[in-house]
Amino acid sequence: MLRRALLRSSALRRLLPPSPSYSPSPLSLASVRQCSSSSSSQIPHSHSVEQLEDTPPPPPSATISIDRSNLYNPTEHSHEPSADSELVKHLKNVIKFRGGPITVAEYMEEVLTNPKSGYYMNRDVFGKGGDFITSPEVSQMFGEMIGVWAVCLWEQMGQPDRINLVELGPGRGTLMADLLRGASKFKNFTASLALHLVECSPALQKLQYQKLKCTTEETVDGDSGTRHISTLAGNPVSWHAMLEQVPTGLPTIVIAHEFYDALPVHQFQKASRGWCEKMVDVTENSSFRFVLSPQPTPAALYLAQRCKWAKAEEFTKLSQIEVCPKAIDLTQEIANRISVDGGGALIIDYGLNGTIADSLQAIRKHKFVDILDDPGSADLSAYVDFEAIRRSAEEIPDVSVHGPITQSEFLGSLGINFRAEALLQNCNEEQAESLRTGYWRLVGEGEAPFWEGPDEQTPIGMGTRYLAMAIVNKKQGIPAPYQE
Ligand code: SAH
Repeated sequence: MLRRALLRSSALRRLLPPSPSYSPSPLSLASVRQCSSSSSSQIPHSHSVEQLEDTPPPPPSATISIDRSNLYNPTEHSHEPSADSELVKHLKNVIKFRGGPITVAEYMEEVLTNPKSGYYMNRDVFGKGGDFITSPEVSQMFGEMIGVWAVCLWEQMGQPDRINLVELGPGRGTLMADLLRGASKFKNFTASLALHLVECSPALQKLQYQKLKCTTEETVDGDSGTRHISTLAGNPVSWHAMLEQVPTGLPTIVIAHEFYDALPVHQFQKASRGWCEKMVDVTENSSFRFVLSPQPTPAALYLAQRCKWAKAEEFTKLSQIEVCPKAIDLTQEIANRISVDGGGALIIDYGLNGTIADSLQAIRKHKFVDILDDPGSADLSAYVDFEAIRRSAEEIPDVSVHGPITQSEFLGSLGINFRAEALLQNCNEEQAESLRTGYWRLVGEGEAPFWEGPDEQTPIGMGTRYLAMAIVNKKQGIPAPYQE
């Protein structure tokens, strides 16, 4: 089954570095971010949020009154008022001064990226010692295969002399380092790259600087300051807080691996009066809890848009839905750039090709925990709605959208099995074992059948849970590996 998915392509094979140079990534058996509760179903097209109201909403008032009769899945969470972290104090203040609860999206955004104490802002969260592990940290082959994809696209773009290579949320910088090393044989490609890393976390920016072996030099013109060069392949590197800050005017390749899942989602639940937004409030005893909005909220506009994109059968069964306005806006920004400047984007993440009911999850030290428990100490992420991404991109002229296909199909078609075979020629038994486990984790499915270690460390395959979608400028034709 897996073998069939790993399609062979000689055109792609030649892009693989010829001499195997094995530098094992630290292979952790820690959990990948996978979700236990998500589903896909739908409401009829014509149902807007307003049409689903069956009781009139209460009149607007200065303080928002909250319907606590239909609380969603209230769970126990430990909370000591005296031990409130900076972030918890901040969240409570926002709720207090707002005079009512905040949306799940606001909560998620504050928890992950609050400049002072957001989850990502001050530490390395990845790997065995962190909270979760991602594909680039599982095996060097992941970044190398993304490099193969980028070289193929650059060739289709007509091998421009200068391009922007943008990575959204580069984590430790491992994917980019493996991409540059893997593509080093294609000198014209690597020489064309200006690297742009979109990263909100100062702590992770530092790790990226180190991983890319950057040096900093004074600029010749004096007052504009310094510039950073990655000594891996001699490329200029810039950091940005958001994509908007990346200069336009050059053909652009955008890589987003496990970035979209960190974008804040709004959650809606069907109540007797219609679709209500799930909000986060503080109880009298000062703990967080979920409540439902008594009347339509501004994000209902995005809910209505998402309903229009869904198939009729899907919505009738649905009692909850997640909507990610930032994913829609970001996709349109990416697609606009590609439309005007040329190039393409690759989005890889866990998710579904359809509506998502309730996938928001919290992971701390490789275990699922309560979403409201000790915010800022656990990662929050949600399944990516690839159908919404496709629909958003398709609204932009001159771009085409391909996939999603599974990560297993994507990596297999790009030749990961050849790369694995080449690396196996040149490593010791321990490295070979780690390479085989890493390969299997990237393309396999479910729990590893061959695993002989402790049960709680059984590797989980990411091959089918993770999906890959490409958005490209139409002039460039169909990108690899979607032609087959
Ligand atoms: N792509 C990496 C890391 C994924 S974790 C990997 O696969 O290993 C998400 C990354 O996105 C982190 O680097 C985090 O700091 C960054 N991030 C999350 N939300 C962000 C935002 N709103 N703006 C910029 N960076 C963000």
